Amino acid sequence: MNIAIIGAGVSAAAAVGVLKQHGCQISVFEKSRGPGGRMSSKRALAGSLDLGAQYFTARDAGFIAQVEQWRSQGLVQIWSMQPWVSEHGVLSRSDDQQIRYVGTSTMHQMLIPAFSGVDIHYQSKINELSFITSNVSSHSQGQWQLCSEQGECYGGFDAVLLTCPPEQSYQLLIGAPVCAQIPRQSLVPCWAVLLELAAPTHVSMDAIFVKDGAASWVARQSSKPGRQSARLRDVSEAPEQWLLHFTADFSAAELEASAERITELAAAELVRVLERTVEVAAALCHRWLYASYNPAIAPCGVLYDAKMQLALAGDWTLGGRVENAWLSGVTAAEQLLSARHKSGQQR
Ligand SMILES: Cc1cc2nc3c(=O)[nH]c(=O)nc-3n(C[C@H](O)[C@H](O)[C@H](O)COP(=O)(O)OP(=O)(O)OC[C@H]3O[C@@H](n4cnc5c(N)ncnc54)[C@H](O)[C@@H]3O)c2cc1C
Repeated sequence: MNIAIIGAGVSAAAAVGVLKQHGCQISVFEKSRGPGGRMSSKRALAGSLDLGAQYFTARDAGFIAQVEQWRSQGLVQIWSMQPWVSEHGVLSRSDDQQIRYVGTSTMHQMLIPAFSGVDIHYQSKINELSFITSNVSSHSQGQWQLCSEQGECYGGFDAVLLTCPPEQSYQLLIGAPVCAQIPRQSLVPCWAVLLELAAPTHVSMDAIFVKDGAASWVARQSSKPGRQSARLRDVSEAPEQWLLHFTADFSAAELEASAERITELAAAELVRVLERTVEVAAALCHRWLYASYNPAIAPCGVLYDAKMQLALAGDWTLGGRVENAWLSGVTAAEQLLSARHKSGQQR
């Protein structure tokens, strides 16, 4: 089976892992320069920076087994920090017992082996999908053709798996019956800001869930395992770097704000939450239009159209988060394979 996958995030990596085991021919199309999607990290002088997913958790038995395998390969480590909670101007230690994992040395490190040996096209934004049914085709069910914004077209696919956010999947599939099942506002935005400080804060906290105000999360980047750059001879040379996420409501209200304004507001939030004055030496802002799951919307489940050999996966199909993204990719791959198995039996 010749399968095209759109996107190279965690859900795509999970699907590729399953499909590779079954000898499928896979082509991946990713609009960015590398894999990872919302799990990707940026390289910087002081080490790697996680602007998207901060960590992930594992509850499903299959995913726990996968995480253990990644840990044994040195691709994932436990982030052993005890978070704090900031509420009504009071900081208190959280008593949660959650185990939190991070990829090392970048958040998406463990996805890289899945994509190795696969025909992968980076900087290839797919903007047209066609399902071609033809009498001359030996495939009675038709075949898929994909065209990119860059003007390249790729054809001859028996099946397509979309792993883009729902809004983007909808746009690609307008007119297809499955569109009616795509919950379009299931991912909400997030402004992420990295603040590098001129002087140490001397606070003991490494990560804080913020329950009021504009910020929702504040974390010290260097507290994560494997984040320090090998280029720094002495870890104490590294400036303190704090990553701040704004709430979905704030991010939606300030969607078009300038990076300068967002940086200023982030610095003010950091001062408020840490109860310290800070001097920002450098900043990096990233606006995620589709960041995390909107809990007001019920998950639709992995979507699948057997007639068109079309599946839609992604965190949003199962309720958000890295773990669900992974599970959605596995489920979608299994659905595509079971259809192949059934059609093989009918021939
Ligand atoms: C700020 C932020 C904080 C988060 N914090 C956490 C956390 O702490 N814990 C947790 O578990 N989860 C967290 N998440 C969510 C987590 O990152 C996601 O659940 C997960 O990474 C989603 O993976 P995915 O494969 O479903 O989608 P994505 O990672 O979004 O992958 C989809 C890919 O498709 C590509 N794409 C889209 N359209 C096209 C196109 N037309 N052509 C080609 N390629 C295309 C995109 O570039 C992207 O690489 C966070 C996310 C964000 C943004």
